[in-house]
Amino acid sequence: GGATLALIKPDAFGAGHANDIVQLTLKAGFTVHSQRTMQLTPELAEEFYAEHKGKHFFPILVDFMTSGPLCAMKLGKPGAVKAWRDLIGPTNSNVARDTKPESIRAMYGTDGTKNATHGSANDGDASRELDFFFPDPAAT
Ligand code: ATP
Repeated sequence: GGATLALIKPDAFGAGHANDIVQLTLKAGFTVHSQRTMQLTPELAEEFYAEHKGKHFFPILVDFMTSGPLCAMKLGKPGAVKAWRDLIGPTNSNVARDTKPESIRAMYGTDGTKNATHGSANDGDASRELDFFFPDPAAT
């Protein structure tokens, strides 16, 4: 339960915010155990977000997530899943600016889709998502 999967999504990565986001992450007490920069194919993005298949925003989400490189990180800290979601703030960056202005999504996101970061929703998702981005433990 001490690890989560964090993504710096293509909007924030492309805007050059990755270093600032990592600095805030370290300042909040997380350890970066693994880090990988890559660009998702549509097939991989659809697999990663399989739970959203069929929703009205799914094609927009896949377009966005494949629009450029992103940075995946394995973050460690006691209670990492909740701690990281607290740090990134509400899903919609406009809501985040209204309700949690010090959050990462408030500072670096744009709207309800382009929201700068991802965080696993629970420990089960974290395990699956970490395997997705870091399939070979020996290489990380
Ligand atoms: P949270 O769990 O805090 O809502 P999340 O990143 O897990 O954050 P999901 O609900 O799993 O959010 O949605 C996945 C992603 O899809 C969001 O981060 C966002 O980029 C996009 N998204 C979610 N809801 C919408 C929506 N209504 N319209 C457009 N894009 C959306």
